[in-house]
Amino acid sequence: MSRSEELFEKASRLMPGGVNSPVRAFGAVGGHPFFVRRAQGPWLYDEDGRRYLDYVCSWGPCILGHACPPVIEAVQKACADGLTFGAPTQKEGILAEMICACVPDVEMVRLVSSGTEAVMSAVRLARGFTGREKIIKFAGNYHGHSDGLLVKAGSGMMTQSVPDSAGVPEGYAKTTLTAVYNDPDSVRRLMEENRGEVAAVVVEPVAANMGVVPPEPGFLEFLRAITEENGALLVFDEVITGFRLGLGGATEYTGVHADLHTFGKIVGGGMPLAAYGGSEKIMSCVAPLGPVYQAGTLSGNPAAVTAGIATLKILMDRPQLYRELDEKAARLERAFLEKGLTVNRAGSLLTPFFTGGREVKNYDGALRCDRRAFADYFAWMLSQDIYVAPSPFEAMFVSAAHSDGLIEETCRAIGEWRADAGRD
Ligand SMILES: *Cc1c(COP(=O)(O)O)cnc(C)c1O
Repeated sequence: MSRSEELFEKASRLMPGGVNSPVRAFGAVGGHPFFVRRAQGPWLYDEDGRRYLDYVCSWGPCILGHACPPVIEAVQKACADGLTFGAPTQKEGILAEMICACVPDVEMVRLVSSGTEAVMSAVRLARGFTGREKIIKFAGNYHGHSDGLLVKAGSGMMTQSVPDSAGVPEGYAKTTLTAVYNDPDSVRRLMEENRGEVAAVVVEPVAANMGVVPPEPGFLEFLRAITEENGALLVFDEVITGFRLGLGGATEYTGVHADLHTFGKIVGGGMPLAAYGGSEKIMSCVAPLGPVYQAGTLSGNPAAVTAGIATLKILMDRPQLYRELDEKAARLERAFLEKGLTVNRAGSLLTPFFTGGREVKNYDGALRCDRRAFADYFAWMLSQDIYVAPSPFEAMFVSAAHSDGLIEETCRAIGEWRADAGRD
């Protein structure tokens, strides 16, 4: 038995599924997860001494690669000064200033500890600001695991949503309406049926949690227009796209402006930190300035803020980095296309879809993927010491630590993949 297997067996006795977040359990691909001892640059090292080229990058945060020296040094220094104070620090203002400088339309931010918390708080703020209760989200978009956002579309033509997890009250699901990504009519219908009741449309401006699904031309522009016409806010959930598609996130990438933005992953530089922000007018509704309550013992944690500042500083000092990431991802895209796969890509986010050549524009399209073929592909890549997400509905993340040579090696592995090569 490998060390990872032993550790997984022990973990499985102590934690549900042996993990602290479900996708880590390798359920979609079978087998057991490898346990990570450490990571450096593009590499993950497991407890059995194996090294993997990592395209998961902690699901997005590690845009500079793992254990980026200036980030680690800054955090080590910050830790020596104390891990948490429960009182304001100068550094929170520095990080807030950086976010506001980078992201159009964000004049004020609130720092929180997870993407889930950021989106949950932004939705509460949208409701408090508009005095309305309902929100519209899209099937296949993920916004963290807060109750009101863990819903899915009801069956058939019903516009009512239903809980997507046991334990989510029906009542919560009722205030969340589910539309179809890239389908303006589905949004228009919900807006009409719920006139004057919709507080916000919450969207992943480039969807990356059903695999990567970019917005079709005009889709985000349509959301901008219909929210304005109906007095609702447009919330861009940029927990993945923020500082990933560019310093200005989805707004810079698509040209469409939103009222509220949520950030996570990269903004915390690998530490538990996230944020939500928007105009001064809207953000002034947040306590203690306004009536929308939101708080956190570890919010603005000094070590986490330090990691965020160090990471954003490097990104701001190297604006050409995004073009380099884009070119690297484009090479991976070509390698998948040569295998006849459907590939969706936005900057350094990409997903090969095993859909028999069919395009993927929404969640139903993504669900058409051949899961067996995906599991084979995953096993093949792992056999080549390349770690891609253990689920077909995830993005591949390219980091600054993925050198041209490593990208070439990855393209070669993709090229050598045969549909049944990795099968046990
Ligand atoms: C990861 C993610 C979240 C949730 O963030 P956590 O830090 O995991 O709570 C929310 N929205 C999007 C778009 C995400 O990708």
